[in-house]
Order: sequence, then C-alpha cells, then structure tokens
Amino acid sequence: MSVKVIHWGLGAMGGGMAELIAKKSGIQSVGAIDLDPNKVGKPLGEIFEGQAMDVIIQREPEQVLSVDADLVLIATGSFTKEVFPQIKQAVESKKNVICIAEEMAYPEQQERELAKEIDRLAKEHNVTVLGTGINPGFVLDTLIIALTGVCTHVEKIEAARINDLSPFGPTVMKTQGVGTTVEEFKKGIEEGYIVGHVGFPESMGLIAKALGWELDEIKETKEPIISKTYRKTKYVEVYPGMVAGCKHIAYGIMDGKTVIKLEHPQQVLPELEGVETGDYINIYGTPNVNMAIKPEIPGGIGTIAMAVNSIINVIKAKPGLTNMAELPVPRAIMGDIEKMLKTRS
Ligand code: NAD
Repeated sequence: MSVKVIHWGLGAMGGGMAELIAKKSGIQSVGAIDLDPNKVGKPLGEIFEGQAMDVIIQREPEQVLSVDADLVLIATGSFTKEVFPQIKQAVESKKNVICIAEEMAYPEQQERELAKEIDRLAKEHNVTVLGTGINPGFVLDTLIIALTGVCTHVEKIEAARINDLSPFGPTVMKTQGVGTTVEEFKKGIEEGYIVGHVGFPESMGLIAKALGWELDEIKETKEPIISKTYRKTKYVEVYPGMVAGCKHIAYGIMDGKTVIKLEHPQQVLPELEGVETGDYINIYGTPNVNMAIKPEIPGGIGTIAMAVNSIINVIKAKPGLTNMAELPVPRAIMGDIEKMLKTRS
C-alpha cells in the first residue's frame, strides 16, 4: 500500500508538491482542497502534470479529509493563526500534517498557546505536525543548527540569504515594497502592508532552542534598498532612486550582546549593482565555520522539496508538534517511499 497524501492549498507551492509526488514511487495523492474557483471541481491531473484524473479538487475539506490518508500537505498561508483551523481539522481526521506556513516552523515563538493546542491535539489523535520550508525551515535555521554540530563552543552566528525576487509576481513585489518611492516604502512598513521576510523570530527561536540559548530579545529592522540603476522585471519597473526591495535584518540578543544576526535583503536583480546572490553562514566559535552556497538555493523548488522530503520523517516521528531541529536530518527521497518507510526504524 503506497503512502497516501491530501493536498490543502494548490498554489505555486502546493501545486509543485502535487507534481513532485506524481514523479515519486510508493506515494500517491488521494485528495485535494483549494478555494480557487478556477481549480475547484477539476481533476488534479488536469492542472498538475502527471497527477491523478480521478482526484477532484474540492472546496469543502470535510469530505476530502474523510478518506483514508497518511498525511496532509498544507500550503495555504503564512501565519499560525491562519492555518490553525486547517491543521486542527486535518489532525482531528487522524492525519499527519506538514505545513509550510512560515510561522509554523516554530510556532512556540509567537503563538505559544496555539502551539500547545496543536501539540495536544496531535498527541490525542496520535499524529505528528511539522512546519517546514526553505526559509524558515532550512537555510537560516536548520542548516545553521547542523553546522554548529562541529563546534565545541559558539560565540555568535551571522547568516544572510541574498536572493533575487525577479521571478516573483505582484503579491511579493507589494509585500517587499519593490517599485515604491522611499516615502511609500516607509508608509507601507508603518501600515503593515510592506512586511519584508516572515519568519525571523521563528528561525531565531529554533536556533536558540536547539543550542540551549535563552534569548532576551529579538530586534528587527526593515530598510529600503534604494536602487542606483534602472531595473525591470516582468512585473515591476524600478528607476534609480526608487526602492528595489527590503533589507530586513533580525538580531537575537542575549546578555546585552547580539548572538544571532540573520539578514534577508530581498530585491529584484541585485546583480545589476554587483551583489552576488547566495546563502552565507558564519559561525564564530571553536572552530569558526564559514559556508557559502552560490547562487542561493532556489526558494520555490527548495520549499516543495523540503515538504515532500519530510514525509518519511514525519510519519515515523512520535506524535505531537515537532520541528526541523527535532527530526532526523533532511534528505532527498529518491527511492520507493513505501519501501523506505518499512526499512526505517
Ligand atoms: P499561493 O498564493 O500561490 O497559493 C496558495 C493557495 O492556497 C491558493 O491556491 C489558494 O487558493 C489556496 N488557499 C488559500 N487559503 C485557503 C483555504 N483556506 N482553503 C483552501 N485553499 C486555500 O502561495 P504559495 O506560493 O503556494 O505559498 C503558500 C504559503 O506558503 C504562503 O503563505 C507563503 O508565504 C508560504 N511559503 C512558505 C515558505 C517557507 O519557506 N516556509 C516558502 C514558500 C511559501
């Protein structure tokens, strides 16, 4: 019997997960939920390459969740509050959950009560809930934590994910303030529609918990990246003097010192001003550890892979709310998932 998966949210990420699952063996999609009227009522296989034609995308979750399945992949939103009702319903139908909402990477950080409730529900129904993704979920937390494993002492961690937003659409341009004037950017930050990166407190919380650090405070700054050059993508034009993106930095402070600094300047076409994209981690300690991945791990593929590749780890995990630092090391699942599950203790 192959591993059975239900998709909840079939946008760029959830749809990619459906297509990836169609390419893997020992696993199949048995249900799909989305609100988009362009998708509801259509066979999954009509929209997503290689997928089943007998799985119809539904708007209402009840019936979909009543089918026998091992796990629900949730890719609908960013915030714990927003996805909590979906997680609750999936867990109550006795399914494991993998969710890519940024705050779910470590919901204890900002939504302690909801995290406790998710943990309680998961234990009651004997299933596991994991939040993952590329960031938060991997580059600025799990990967850093793994690298500290070779250190006898860690003094301070500095890491940066420098990426290019040009493949993304209008929603991302708006939330990062790309194409605005400096005044508009400041107004957007104040009014909360320019948000920068979602997930810094979660990455900080995950790192601190894993290392046994107790942070006193997390500070965040968001500054406009003012372009010196003309930049144009499919969705936006940025003239010199306008905003090309948001330089978002987070500082984790302990005993008056910054012990974790995470940077995620997100802009369009940074190479036009000589900025090389990449994922950079510097651990200052014994020994110092410096890592550079150039160019950066692509966010879309990375997130889709992290979610699907976590399926075995989640099915095998003990019941409750877990996180990437508690599970076995992430790895690509290249074999038959059903067989791999049987041979994993
Ligand atoms: P998207 O907008 O392309 O897709 C979201 C899909 O979910 C849409 O099809 C929408 O109709 C559906 N949806 C929304 N609410 C729903 C609900 N209540 N019930 C059923 N369907 C619903 O977004 P995306 O790029 O696929 O990303 C999904 C979420 O994951 C976003 O919030 C994004 O910020 C987050 N994300 C996190 C990471 C990470 O690294 N952790 C990476 C990528 C995306």
